[in-house]
Amino acid sequence: MIVQWYPGHMQKAKREILELNKYVDLYLILLDARAPLSSRNEQLESLIKDKPKIFILNKADLADEKKNTQFLNYFESINQRALCVDSLKGTNVKNIFKIAENLLKDKIEEARQKGRRKIVRFGVLGIPNVGKSTLINKITNSSKAKTGDKPGVTKSKQWIKINDYFEMLDTPGILVPKIEDDLVAIKLCAIGSIKDELYDKELVAKKTIGIIKKGYCELLNKKYSLDFLNMSEEEYLIEIGKKRGCVLKEGKIDTLKAANLFLEDLRKAKIGRITLDEIGDR
Ligand code: GDP
Repeated sequence: MIVQWYPGHMQKAKREILELNKYVDLYLILLDARAPLSSRNEQLESLIKDKPKIFILNKADLADEKKNTQFLNYFESINQRALCVDSLKGTNVKNIFKIAENLLKDKIEEARQKGRRKIVRFGVLGIPNVGKSTLINKITNSSKAKTGDKPGVTKSKQWIKINDYFEMLDTPGILVPKIEDDLVAIKLCAIGSIKDELYDKELVAKKTIGIIKKGYCELLNKKYSLDFLNMSEEEYLIEIGKKRGCVLKEGKIDTLKAANLFLEDLRKAKIGRITLDEIGDR
């Protein structure tokens, strides 16, 4: 087991989503563009299958551009609306409303014919640290939705008016990550969606090096001025430690420090724009 997991959380998340579902017309489901499949939770999504949804591939600025396009095509192929977004800069955020209007055009028109105005209520869902609060802030231009760099912050709920037609819940629904296998767990740890204390950082760093060396070996070698050819993941991490001066008193390499440095570099896209999932993973 890569992550020390707690099954009770799924039940709590289910209850919260069912409550949310009483009020929401349309969901923005945030996925991490660096792992769009691993950051989904289809089990919880099935609770809201009666409502329209838009998948937001957030942090697209950190993900591999080629794979961003591939994943957009993938979602289209499964008949789902998806959009690549950078919530920090606000890239593509306006297009969310265009898609939303299109998805709900029948309801909007029906209300119009009855002389009423349909107010579309948005709810935001996603796993911890995927950028829910950042997106809500960007859309509502308010500081009401607190952002933080730590997974799992909760706040009290309030609808925020965006314009005459749209309202948004200021509090996102938190999707518990669905850890189907060790590979998914490693990727979720690597992108920072699992609390640090729940996993072994050295193990995750080594396994992540193993994942990214397949498609991004050149980026990795360039970043650390190393050559992966003849090295195992363990040796590679040790070499990163040597390069970065992660040395313990006895002269041994501090591989935990090296793992932390590597994961930090990865999360900030300092190695390059890397996507951990492949379309074929699902
Ligand atoms: P939440 O737990 O889902 O509400 O996530 P937050 O909104 O608190 O964001 C977590 C971290 O990701 C923060 O450090 C944000 O600045 C950062 N972040 C959010 N969206 C983006 C994005 O689109 N691009 C980048 N580069 N960082 C983002």
